[in-house]
Amino acid sequence: MKIGIIGSGIGGTSLAYFLKESLHSPELHIFEKNDRIGGRIKATNIEGEWFEQGATFFHETNQIMLNLANKLGLQRKAYKMPSYGIWNGRAFVSRSGKFKFMDDLKIFGSFPLSSYRFLQLIKKLKKEIPKVYDRLDRGGIVELDALLGKNLLEQFGKRSLFDVLSEHGISEKFARKFIEPAIRFIYDQGLEISAFAGLVAIIASEGESVYQIEGGNFQLLEKMVKLSEAELHFKTRITKIMKSEREYSLFSANRKVGEFDLVIIASPLEIAKIEFEKITLPPLLSQTYLQVSNTLVVGKIRPSYFGLSTKQMPTLILTTKDHDHPFTAIETLMETPQGDYVYNFISKTPAKIEDLETIFSDIRTVVAQDWEYAYPKIEPIKQLNPLVLDEDLYYLNAVECATTAMEASLIGSKNIANLITEKHGN
Ligand SMILES: Cc1cc2nc3c(=O)[nH]c(=O)nc-3n(C[C@H](O)[C@H](O)[C@H](O)COP(=O)(O)OP(=O)(O)OC[C@H]3O[C@@H](n4cnc5c(N)ncnc54)[C@H](O)[C@@H]3O)c2cc1C
Repeated sequence: MKIGIIGSGIGGTSLAYFLKESLHSPELHIFEKNDRIGGRIKATNIEGEWFEQGATFFHETNQIMLNLANKLGLQRKAYKMPSYGIWNGRAFVSRSGKFKFMDDLKIFGSFPLSSYRFLQLIKKLKKEIPKVYDRLDRGGIVELDALLGKNLLEQFGKRSLFDVLSEHGISEKFARKFIEPAIRFIYDQGLEISAFAGLVAIIASEGESVYQIEGGNFQLLEKMVKLSEAELHFKTRITKIMKSEREYSLFSANRKVGEFDLVIIASPLEIAKIEFEKITLPPLLSQTYLQVSNTLVVGKIRPSYFGLSTKQMPTLILTTKDHDHPFTAIETLMETPQGDYVYNFISKTPAKIEDLETIFSDIRTVVAQDWEYAYPKIEPIKQLNPLVLDEDLYYLNAVECATTAMEASLIGSKNIANLITEKHGN
């Protein structure tokens, strides 16, 4: 069986790995428009250390990610939770000792009732998540709503975070002050985000339960590709999929690159920009993808910019929504042997050198990573994307209409591997 996978992010590479495990001698081809694997996972080495500039951390409840890392013998390291401050453009509206977001909520003395209710709400969602894995264990699921489950969709997926918080008696002041800056840091969105995506992001900020792969998350993808024995075709942007009687032909810039029994699109369609010929697609939801820039800066932050002394500076600066900041967050990643620091300067548009020079001194290195399509604007779900586009044509990133994260792509990948194995396995 000849299988074409479009995209070498965590979705495409894990699918190749799962199919190699479950099918008898599949012939796997991965097509990638760039010259590296990883997609939205990318790390940069600065002075011997790897720093993630795309997907950074995963939570211990991310079962597939955790199992893969363990099975493939990759070390994971705890993501160091920094101290944080929330900056409103003039002053810090709050500062913590140590960034253990959920723990801090337990002691937010000024909002005891809202904190308590918020923690109860998180518990409610946490009960629904393992059910997704249970459903996945039972086999392939054709519809996304059946995979996510009615409770999760009705209570969280189809509602805005703002509405769900207010319905649970959580004050708007508390939400704007503590919840919104964290959502901005993770998804660059506000309380209008779907409650499912927003709360999953908050769970991902839980103190000691957050990890990354030692030496870079990309290593997991490299290992999966190697073990899958898939043939990788770099610099091959698939521009068209055409159906003929028995198979699908893939084209790159008017050149046919092969015929396949099965094709999986492992990229958001909004990014892949593929033309379909002789295929009638089911209705698709088009999402708006947000742009994000992660710029690594080696230098020293100017505490005077924030009206503090060096000692008082938090290591993660989050921002409120009510101000036009030149950044959405700044995270201190490491102290270098030279006594300066590596920072991640996160902004909505490519960092301007004049802003960097205003905020940092003694700049030695700047490495920019501008993501033109970082993550979708995840609004309360009105319509779910189809996982199956045609008889043997699958859409892995359909899951991104519900939430976007490495684990979301892995769930999409595992489910499609199950569907394919049930249909074509021996
Ligand atoms: C700045 C940033 C921070 C993030 N932080 C986190 C985090 O901390 N934790 C977390 O879990 N998630 C995080 N995410 C989200 C996470 O990166 C994504 O959800 C996940 O990596 C998506 O993987 P994917 O394989 O589904 O898609 P992608 O990684 O987008 O892979 C798709 C691949 O397909 C290729 N492609 C596209 N079109 C074509 C075509 N026509 N032909 C050939 N190839 C094509 C692309 O080049 C790409 O390599 C972050 C994302 C960004 C941008």
